[in-house]
Amino acid sequence: MMYDLARVERQHLANKKGPVFSLIRKLCACGKASTAKHLAQHGKCAACALAAVRDAILPGDFAKLQHMLGAVKQYPKSKWGWRNYFAAGSGQQHEAMQRLAAAGLATAGRACGDITYFYATRLGCKAAGLDGAGIKRAMED
Ligand SMILES: [Zn+2]
Repeated sequence: MMYDLARVERQHLANKKGPVFSLIRKLCACGKASTAKHLAQHGKCAACALAAVRDAILPGDFAKLQHMLGAVKQYPKSKWGWRNYFAAGSGQQHEAMQRLAAAGLATAGRACGDITYFYATRLGCKAAGLDGAGIKRAMED
């Protein structure tokens, strides 16, 4: 049988087209598959990015973030995100909020005397364990 070079070349070109760059699956350092686009932007998969963010804050800060979003045991998970604010006084509360803000989990809002209102960002909502509906709820209020 003749080796059909032209046909092989056509197949090769068709294969090269493939999916668009951003959707090519690549592996994160942890071994989990992520999209090339996500890895290019964040250097790691979503789970690792979230873990890195959690490492940047203190456990007490995380509890405040959960409180901020009502993402606590007293409420069913389907309700999380029903609130999204934290009225921080000066001192430790304010320092905790600033760590959350530095980690990209919260953002400072209006101040009223010694009190500054902080709000969770989309990333903060994710870190607190909110699902898509919860994030929508928290970001809309
Ligand atoms: Zn990873």
